[in-house]
Amino acid sequence: MKKAEMQVYKEQLLALRARLRGDVNQLADAALKKSRSEANGDLSSMPIHMADIGSDNFEQEFTLSLMENEGGTLAQIETSLERIEEGTYGQCEECGARIPKNRLNAIPYAALCIRCAEQQEQRL
Ligand SMILES: [Zn+2]
Repeated sequence: MKKAEMQVYKEQLLALRARLRGDVNQLADAALKKSRSEANGDLSSMPIHMADIGSDNFEQEFTLSLMENEGGTLAQIETSLERIEEGTYGQCEECGARIPKNRLNAIPYAALCIRCAEQQEQRL
């Protein structure tokens, strides 16, 4: 892939990373604040909208698992950015084939071509 083309994906990845980081921090913040106040039995220090977020553990677990997924995406974005620097971006990590652009447009942090991604899904 040409450098100029990589630059476009790099910008997309950086934008995506900034957005995910913001989201992850917010979610972590909400989940942590919630468990702290519950441990103290003190809800009065929380802003009202925080108290409304949820009153059972299920909701906290859901938030944390969502965070984990976003953390995984973040790691994939970091790897893709490294690969742009190395000049190997757009190549399948598994077989070395070129990842189609329409796939990269949909998932700029995709590390595998469609065939390898499908094979990996079947293994899981
Ligand atoms: Zn492949």
